[in-house]
Amino acid sequence: MTYSSPTPPPEFSPSGSPWQELLPPLTAYEATTEANRCLYCYDAPCVQACPTHIDIPSFIRKISTGNLRGSARTILEANFLGGTCARVCPV
Ligand code: SF4
Repeated sequence: MTYSSPTPPPEFSPSGSPWQELLPPLTAYEATTEANRCLYCYDAPCVQACPTHIDIPSFIRKISTGNLRGSARTILEANFLGGTCARVCPV
């Protein structure tokens, strides 16, 4: 009798490790440029759509001003698993 797992094996990244990111992180310049695109919307549809209700415009604004620790604090105060957001958020 052969055993087969109902769970498919993990996808391997180009480096061959299943535990490495598929995409490299943004550079500081890229992160600042992307953060500056936020319009800081009054009704912030991103916050309304986020199941953990993170104050998204605020953490983005903090990224744009170089306050990375404050940005992380904003995320983690709302969701202590905030490190997963960049990996699972479809937006
Ligand atoms: S991230 Fe949120 S606040 Fe910023 S532009 Fe998008 S919807 Fe508006």
